[in-house]
Amino acid sequence: MENVAIFDSPGKGRGLKTTKEFWAGDVIFSEPSISAVVFDSLAERICHSCFRTQDKLQRCGQCKFAHYCDRTCQRAGWAEHKLECSSIKAFGKVPNENIRLVARILWRLDKDGDVVSDMQLTTIDELEDHIADMQEDELKDFKVDIHNFLDYWPRTSKQHTIDNISHLFGVVNCNGFTVSDQRGLQAVGVGLFPNLCLVNHDCWPNCTVILNHGNQSAVNTMFHSQRRIELRSLGKISEGEELTVSYVDYLNLSEDRRRLLKTQYFFDCTCEHCKNRTKDDLKMGGREVDGVKPSEEQVKEATDYCFEMMEKVEKSRLNGNYHEVVKYCKECVDKTESVLADTHIYLLRIWSTLSEVQAYLQYFTDAADYSRKMVDGYIKLYHPNNAALGMAAMRAGVTHWQGGEIEVGHAMICKAYAILMVTHGPTHPITKDLESMRMQTEMELKMFKENEYVYHSMREAALKNKPMAMMHEPKSVEEGIKNMFHRKK
Ligand SMILES: [Zn+2]
Ligand SMILES: [Zn+2]
Ligand SMILES: [Zn+2]
Repeated sequence: MENVAIFDSPGKGRGLKTTKEFWAGDVIFSEPSISAVVFDSLAERICHSCFRTQDKLQRCGQCKFAHYCDRTCQRAGWAEHKLECSSIKAFGKVPNENIRLVARILWRLDKDGDVVSDMQLTTIDELEDHIADMQEDELKDFKVDIHNFLDYWPRTSKQHTIDNISHLFGVVNCNGFTVSDQRGLQAVGVGLFPNLCLVNHDCWPNCTVILNHGNQSAVNTMFHSQRRIELRSLGKISEGEELTVSYVDYLNLSEDRRRLLKTQYFFDCTCEHCKNRTKDDLKMGGREVDGVKPSEEQVKEATDYCFEMMEKVEKSRLNGNYHEVVKYCKECVDKTESVLADTHIYLLRIWSTLSEVQAYLQYFTDAADYSRKMVDGYIKLYHPNNAALGMAAMRAGVTHWQGGEIEVGHAMICKAYAILMVTHGPTHPITKDLESMRMQTEMELKMFKENEYVYHSMREAALKNKPMAMMHEPKSVEEGIKNMFHRKK
């Protein structure tokens, strides 16, 4: 770990600083997880070894709980699962994800020692657990977990003190990192990455974290080679500067971010953007038309209306009633678009939902229009290399392309590619997808410029032959992408 050093960050406790200069897209460090588990709710749909989404998984014949892609994944995951497998059998039921994770970490530490690799900058002992900061009801759940853990933990494994076990539960509770599937679109589990725990928060950070599952063959040949996170630089970072990431989505008002950070991570954010309430006015602003702004009451009324509609939309979305989602969203847009600024965060959420759902329902022209508005708003709010902005540009690019607007489509795909090269890196599956889409659209654009008629007839033929990917079912994926650490509801 020659790139970083631990230091005392004023007002924040321990932090990491650089020991040399970095530029946008540089990997400052990469780190494998100590351990990770699949969420309880997805235990039968995600491979417990490689964490990929698969249609058909095979069940572990012993515990009937763990699921794998195939024998190779099962073998690769056996070292992690072996003791878990017999414990689940003996316990007679499956403990929740927190308990499973704590147990997996403890077995790993018992086997490999407090520092499992020479890259690891801190022991788990030294990480904060914030037990003293917990609220009463949170503490109650916490104690139930510990109680169940003690029943689950086998007598044949090394015995630990209650203090040690509580500490580990506390660490997992505030530092458990959300593990996404191979394409980074869905939150599928939670894992612990010790070095990452040392990186402090800033609402306008200089780094981003991305999980890279590596390629399939590497997963299968090396134990724990999968599930590496990379800390990537978003821009120039000077030698000696503190490294920061954002634990929450910037598309919240500073007040809401501060509240989230206080209740979930137990600190008061004192970053520049919170101090100055930077961009709060844009996020709740009214639309100026020919120098005329709507009154404060008009903006408030439209904001409240949007909020109400968002609840209805979420309900319909959860029921899978996508036509109703579109109906509510459009009602909302019709009523508020003329009053609210194009950077209003509720309006942005409605546009985002509309573009996602319309793309899924294959109304590409509509999806393209809304995704364009979403990207235009995001550009004014987010850091130019924000991953969520990159993903939004990708959606805009794909929907324009599918809607037959090759020029905007190609431009947006190029924009997305440029951002994801920084935030995800060239080997991430999504960046690779973008690269091939970039080449494909570049070729089509050339054709379009040479002969529009030939282009359109060719395109129609191509669309008939292969329905394009990317139309995953709309679900609330945003949490997985935007909330870095996994928090229990
Ligand atoms: Zn697998
Ligand atoms: Zn098993
Ligand atoms: Zn802040």
